Amino acid sequence: MIWSSLWASFALLIHPVLAVNFPFEEIQLTAADIAVNRDVDFGNATLTTKYSGTTCKAFPGSPDWPPEDEWTALNETIDGVLLKPLPVASACYAGQAYDAARCRYLISPMSGLRRAYLDDPLAVLTQWPQGATCLASLKSQGNCTQGGFPVYVAKVTTVKHIQAAVNFARNRNIRLVIKNTGHDFGGRSVGAGSLSIWTHYLKSFEFLPSYTLGNYTGMAVRFGSGLETQELFNYMALHNITVVAAGPGTVGANGGWFGYGGHGNLASYYGLGSDQGLSLEVVTADGRLVTADPFTNPDLFYALRGGGAGTFGIVTSVVMKAYPPIYTIAQSVNFALGSEVFWRGISLYYEFSKKIAEAGGIAFSYIYPLGNKSFSFTGSNTFPGMTAAQVSDFMQPLYTDLNSIGINITNPTFLFPTLFGSRRGQSGESPSNTRYRSRFFPSANWDDANLWNRTVAAIRLAVEEGGYTFHGNSHVATADVAGWPGRDSAVNPAWRKSIMHAMLVGEQPLGMSPSEAEAEQNRVQQYMDVWRQLTPSSGSYMNEGDPEEPNWQQSFYGANYPKLLAIKQARDPWGLFWAATTVGSEVWEVKTEDGYPGSQNGRLCRAAD
Ligand SMILES: Cc1cc2nc3c(=O)[nH]c(=O)nc-3n(C[C@H](O)[C@H](O)[C@H](O)COP(=O)(O)OP(=O)(O)OC[C@H]3O[C@@H](n4cnc5c(N)ncnc54)[C@H](O)[C@@H]3O)c2cc1C
Repeated sequence: MIWSSLWASFALLIHPVLAVNFPFEEIQLTAADIAVNRDVDFGNATLTTKYSGTTCKAFPGSPDWPPEDEWTALNETIDGVLLKPLPVASACYAGQAYDAARCRYLISPMSGLRRAYLDDPLAVLTQWPQGATCLASLKSQGNCTQGGFPVYVAKVTTVKHIQAAVNFARNRNIRLVIKNTGHDFGGRSVGAGSLSIWTHYLKSFEFLPSYTLGNYTGMAVRFGSGLETQELFNYMALHNITVVAAGPGTVGANGGWFGYGGHGNLASYYGLGSDQGLSLEVVTADGRLVTADPFTNPDLFYALRGGGAGTFGIVTSVVMKAYPPIYTIAQSVNFALGSEVFWRGISLYYEFSKKIAEAGGIAFSYIYPLGNKSFSFTGSNTFPGMTAAQVSDFMQPLYTDLNSIGINITNPTFLFPTLFGSRRGQSGESPSNTRYRSRFFPSANWDDANLWNRTVAAIRLAVEEGGYTFHGNSHVATADVAGWPGRDSAVNPAWRKSIMHAMLVGEQPLGMSPSEAEAEQNRVQQYMDVWRQLTPSSGSYMNEGDPEEPNWQQSFYGANYPKLLAIKQARDPWGLFWAATTVGSEVWEVKTEDGYPGSQNGRLCRAAD
């Protein structure tokens, strides 16, 4: 008996794989693999001083770009999962890949429904950062080129594939990209001249009815980092549980959503996505698979929850809290008017949205400019754990106030509870070029009448004069709501004090010249500057923020930035994981051919000191 328990402890020491979540994580890179291919050898962060390599990452055509046979050797090490794909829209261009039927399919609305883009190794949903060098159109002209899309993609299904690709990229000075669903609005899942690690097929899932870690005892789930939100919902339905998740089903259930916090309909009730994290498995820049939890690699555990995806390592799986089934009630407030009364109604709604958030709900809203000084407003409010009668009573004071100023809408009484963890199916998504700018509006702006009036006036200015759509998401994801261990994480501190995540939504039309893009950026910044002045020392949500956010270190990370930078430098002295506005990214820049601001279509080089 004594011997068997001693042996078990010893086995744990020599076989860290015993602690992993899934069998795909037990398949790891071995000494035998490295003996055959030295390019995939592990790194040692403690022996490496802060990045001191060449000026630029290798690029196709540069002398240090690995020759074909070395890519072939990598492909052999990773069991043949290395792809060299053409952009999905190459079907629309003259040449080998031309396929008129496929091109028609790509531009039909069905392509989104049928997942043509989500299941593609290169495609991302926001096109402009890629350089728009290969767009699906029946009237395509010129050539389809790779532009900002990666050159190679490792379609990984085991940890060994990830480790070998990470080591190869680090040892051969190749730009590395991580793509999950490609939802990122700022071009963080593309990059010219890169090797991409595509986590899409890491879809393992397990429900843990009883899980204990530190102060937490309760239900949990663990799943691979390629799982989509809709797939997580399907598992919630199967096991009759609740897991905090994004609203739209196609967003990654972990990935960038979790890495930067991640909000959803339960944000005020159970906290953010990253607040649910109990443990993660992660391949770090040296190629090793490690566990990150409150007691093991706590620096990584802190950073990976809110302080950055694509920055500190590649998450292979996560353990998140799970809760009993919960019902939510959705309730709408909509009106459209062309007068001062509209803006008085807006003020009343947003003032009231604080109450909705503090009652555990979220208020999700849009203001659309319709032209001729008329506007429409849609507010969709979600209340977890309340009955229809409670919601109706709760909302009545807002209706009374709106009616009193002449907005004659009726408090709906036919409200039906919906099980949060319901089946979602599996839909797709089509690319667009929506561009978001974000600001957290703190509680202080609600507390002072004068500041409140100026806040509403600033929203109005951006919509009325600027012509932008306003998108508000009121929720309170405070440290108290986050609980343990969520409250001790790298989530933007501004979020903890925020009542509303406020966004300006515009389009970045394809075909804009670099100077037009810059002019548009300057234009929108005038309105954002007014918001910033009214919310000093607040911040912005990186996932729905501007990849060209001024002073982004403060906006996206606040006071956490120095600590996060120290973790980045210790864990990744090579600067291997890079994406725009991620921690430590300021030491690199993309050298674009055309100078298009924010484009990923260029070689990654050291930034000028
Ligand atoms: C249609 C749509 C709806 C959205 N709805 C919401 C919402 O309800 N709530 C919300 O908070 N946000 C929402 N977002 C924003 C969303 O959270 C971000 O786009 C997020 O980055 C998506 O993460 P992803 O992994 O799915 O996408 P990707 O673009 O594949 O990845 C995003 C970033 O995460 C990194 N990354 C991905 N996987 C890993 C991994 N395993 N390890 C390390 N790094 C990784 C990538 O390198 C990249 O930098 C929405 C976006 C879209 C387009």
